[in-house]
Amino acid sequence: MNNIPDVTLKAGREKSIRRRHPWIFSGAVARVEGAPESGSTVRLVSPSHEFLAYAAWSPSSQIRLRTWSFDEQEKIDAVFIQKRVARSIELRRQLGLLDKSGACRLVFSESDGLPGLIVDRYGEYLVCQFLSAGGEYWRDAVVSALDELLSPRAIYERSEASVRKKEGLESRSGLLSGVAPSAPVEFAIGGMRQLVNIEQGHKTGSYLDQSINRQRVATYATGGRVLDAYSYSGGFAISSLLHGAANATLIDSSADALSMAKQQAALNGIADRTSYTNANVPEELRRLRDSRQQFDLIILDPPKFVSSAQQVKSGCRGYKDINMLGLQLLKPGGILATFSCSGHVSSDLFQKIVAGAAVDVDRDVQIIERMSQGPDHPVGLQFPEAEYLKGLLLRVVT
Ligand code: SAH
Repeated sequence: MNNIPDVTLKAGREKSIRRRHPWIFSGAVARVEGAPESGSTVRLVSPSHEFLAYAAWSPSSQIRLRTWSFDEQEKIDAVFIQKRVARSIELRRQLGLLDKSGACRLVFSESDGLPGLIVDRYGEYLVCQFLSAGGEYWRDAVVSALDELLSPRAIYERSEASVRKKEGLESRSGLLSGVAPSAPVEFAIGGMRQLVNIEQGHKTGSYLDQSINRQRVATYATGGRVLDAYSYSGGFAISSLLHGAANATLIDSSADALSMAKQQAALNGIADRTSYTNANVPEELRRLRDSRQQFDLIILDPPKFVSSAQQVKSGCRGYKDINMLGLQLLKPGGILATFSCSGHVSSDLFQKIVAGAAVDVDRDVQIIERMSQGPDHPVGLQFPEAEYLKGLLLRVVT
């Protein structure tokens, strides 16, 4: 272990690492021994040379180091990576999420002790994102571990997120192992049959973080009219129809997403109760309001409006606008399921924004339930940043 370079922190900058937060920012680094290769392991030490952690070195990123282990005896190698992957899979086993025809997030980055690695499972197919220099460095070890532990039909890479740029990494996608599927992959969650195009769908192909919320929201769909805004492939609409909604309108700006939604609706035998609008949501909601349409259940699941601290103000305006419109489109007694996946917008702030929207459109509203990402997207207790998805299930009283 002697040839692992030391990275020394500035005095007073080791507090967060002692609380086991996994990130060290570039400004906290005092000295680097040699010139570590991007993604390779370094020893993080205090100004008095005390061992703090092993971490992955990321020379281009503001987040200069991401910790692997706080145990000095640990060896960071392919065996370590395999142990961490196995530990991640173990949680999903405990959650009962490993049935072959289902889907779940198998590895969720920092919260699973594998910073920069995302692995989603759709049936017997796995999709990986390597989003940090350290994740990239151990790519082959990750693929071997997944092959050995799960024997999937294929492992596909979708490392296209913009965060890779900050890590000095190019976008990359393609087959890593096995044989790519020739058609969309089918899986089922909570009685809903779903399809995913792992080569071209958004992110890894689907939004697994909403799986439990689709089931929760659907319980409110009793015979009514549903509006699924920002529908993507229609998960909320279809689960609501399967639970007895009368009909559903899906709105999305992506024609490909709506085409997948149509296929999913047919697969679930509810196609005759769906209609599709390829449009910009705020504009379409205004149009529906102005033509005095009313719904019983509305889902607002927009993309991330806020990606940085600078965007909070404009993002909040965006959230307020669509929530005002959503509330105006509901009948008395109607339900609004409203979400934000912006990590920079806290649950408190989101609730305040929605409360402001209700006042401005003069509606009396109750919170029925609070929602978050599913349990296969755990939040490391020392890494609250992992909690990004928040949702409110609201009832319009009058
Ligand atoms: N509710 C979906 C996930 C939504 S992801 C589910 O359950 O799977 C956000 C979606 O919003 C994407 O499908 C994207 O195409 C769409 N989108 C982004 N901006 C939009 C806009 N201005 N108007 C309409 N759709 C938009």
